[in-house]
Amino acid sequence: MTKLRIGIQKSGRLHEDSMKLLKECGIDVSNGVNKLKTEASNFPLEVFFLRDDDIPQYVEDAVADIGIVGENVVYEKNKRITVVEKLGFGKCRLSVAVRKGDDYDGPAFLEGKRIATTYPVLVDRFLKEHGVSADIHEISGSVEIAPGIGLAEAICDLVSSGSTLFMNGLKEVHPILQSQAVLVRNNGLDQDRMDILHKLLFRIQAVKKARN
Ligand code: ATP
Ligand code: ZN
Repeated sequence: MTKLRIGIQKSGRLHEDSMKLLKECGIDVSNGVNKLKTEASNFPLEVFFLRDDDIPQYVEDAVADIGIVGENVVYEKNKRITVVEKLGFGKCRLSVAVRKGDDYDGPAFLEGKRIATTYPVLVDRFLKEHGVSADIHEISGSVEIAPGIGLAEAICDLVSSGSTLFMNGLKEVHPILQSQAVLVRNNGLDQDRMDILHKLLFRIQAVKKARN
């Protein structure tokens, strides 16, 4: 029998809400700490636990049929996959931040400056849209410390409350993308998999309605 393979984050900010969503859809999935994959006992679903950054690629390559990942990652990776449904959790924004004392007066402030980020594609697009040329420094984590150690004058990073920025002497000055977790699918799903996806979507939409 065909099973739909879903990629969800192995651990991190989206893991628990993703598991909770499946559970509220009435799908029994045992928790996957230190597990690569698991199968639902009462729905044709196989769950792969992955790094969130890898999910778009796995879905494009049909290693997973669908996945749950932040829009920020979907648009940064720019793979040939389809966003099926917004899920209402993992809300954050990708924002430009500068030092607390700086007089940011718009994107032109960034001209000729160094911007540290894990989202080079989205930052590049933002800069181009505003006709600004700046030096993008791609780093893989702890972006918020970059100005303090002299690596960059500005950063572009995910923000929810802003407290991490504040603690590092920074202030948010320009949101460039609003993001939440979304369900994505492979572009070439066969009819059997599409049917399972529609059953799952029907349940997800019911859960979303019940939450509102
Ligand atoms: P992984 O080990 O899977 O690569 P990660 O460290 O890249 O994990 P997390 O910090 O767990 O990722 O964030 C996963 C996703 O959660 C983000 O891509 C984003 O969509 C969402 N998110 C929601 N709020 C925040 C926030 N305040 N900071 C960072 N990410 C957030
Ligand atoms: Zn990640």
